[in-house]
Amino acid sequence: MIDFRSDTVTQPTEAMRKAMYCAEVGDDVYGDDPSVNELQAMAADMLGFDDALFVASGTQANLLALMAHCERGDEYICGQQAHNYKFEGGGAAVLGSIQPQPLTNLADGTLSLEDIREAIKPDDVHFAHTKLISLENTIGGLVLPESFLADTQALAFEHRLKTHLDGARLANAAVACGRSMAQLSQYFDSVSLCLSKGLAAPVGSLLLGDSHLIPKAHRWRKMLGGGMRQAGVLAAAGKLALTEQVERLAEDHDNARLLANGLMQLDGFRVDLTWVHTNMVFAELAVELNPEVLAHNLRAQGVLITPGRTIRWVTHKDISRADVQRTLECIKRAL
Ligand SMILES: *Cc1c(COP(=O)(O)O)cnc(C)c1O
Repeated sequence: MIDFRSDTVTQPTEAMRKAMYCAEVGDDVYGDDPSVNELQAMAADMLGFDDALFVASGTQANLLALMAHCERGDEYICGQQAHNYKFEGGGAAVLGSIQPQPLTNLADGTLSLEDIREAIKPDDVHFAHTKLISLENTIGGLVLPESFLADTQALAFEHRLKTHLDGARLANAAVACGRSMAQLSQYFDSVSLCLSKGLAAPVGSLLLGDSHLIPKAHRWRKMLGGGMRQAGVLAAAGKLALTEQVERLAEDHDNARLLANGLMQLDGFRVDLTWVHTNMVFAELAVELNPEVLAHNLRAQGVLITPGRTIRWVTHKDISRADVQRTLECIKRAL
C-alpha cells in the first residue's frame, strides 16, 4: 500500500531494527538506561538545550511542557489549530488544570502579535494568570517565518512569559528553510520533537528545556505513568532518527511538490502551491466528487488516503518518487 494518511505510518529502518536488537539497556526510572541517556544528551546538544527527556509520545511531551511551565489556574496562549489545544483531548485542562487561550491562526499558520498582546491578562483576580505562549512548527505542513518566532519571543520577554514550541515536525521545518533545529529552537524555553513521524522511529518523542524545567517534567512524567523501564530499546531507534533521517526529509518535501503539481493538472482537485512547504499537500475536492468513493477506489488500487472535502496527503520515507507517479496514474483512473 502507498499510504498518504500520515508520516506516522513509517516503518523503522533496517538499521533501527538492528540497533534495537543490540541496544544496551537499563532501568530508565533509575536513570540507568545508557541508550536513553545517550539519546537525551544527543538531542539536547543538537537542539541547543541543557537537557532532554525521552517520552512516549508527542502528546505526552506537550502535556509535560505545559504542566512544567504552568501551575493550576494558569493559562497558555496558542492557536485554534494548535495540536496541543485541538487534538490532545484537552489534556492540559483535564490533567493540568491549565486553561488554554486559543487565538485564530492566520493563513500562514502564525498568530497575530496584536491578538497575542490583547490576550495577555493583567494581574487581576478576575483572570487566569497568563504564563506561556505555545507555537507549532511546522503547522499544517507550513514553516513559520523566523521573524515571527523572534517577534513572539520579544513579546514574551516583555510580558515575562515563557515560550513553548510544539516541534513535532521541527526537523521538516529546519530542512525546508535551510536552518538547523537549534537555530529554530533558540526562541523557545522548551521544544517537543516527534521521533516517530517523518524521522521513522517506531515510538517516542523528546522534550527539551533547561535544567530547571526538565526535572519538573520528569516528575510529571512519572506521575502520568510515563516512566518506562528498559526504554533503551526504543531510544536506540530514536538515535538513528536524529542521525540518519533528518536530511532525508528533503526527499519527502520534493515528493510533496511533485504530487501537488500532478494534482493541479487534474480536474477535480484544487491545490495552492503557496502552502506546500514540507511534506503535506492539502487538496480541495471538487463538489461533484465524493471523497468516500474516491478513497474506496484508490484503496482498491493500493493507495490509502483519509477521505474529506479537503484531503491531506502526507509524504514520507515509505513513499518514493515512483510511488507518487503511480499514485497520480491511479487517481486519473479513479476520476
Ligand atoms: C503528531 C503531533 C503531536 C502528537 O504526537 P503523538 O506522538 O501522536 O502523540 C503533537 N503535535 C503535533 C504538531 C503533531 O503533529
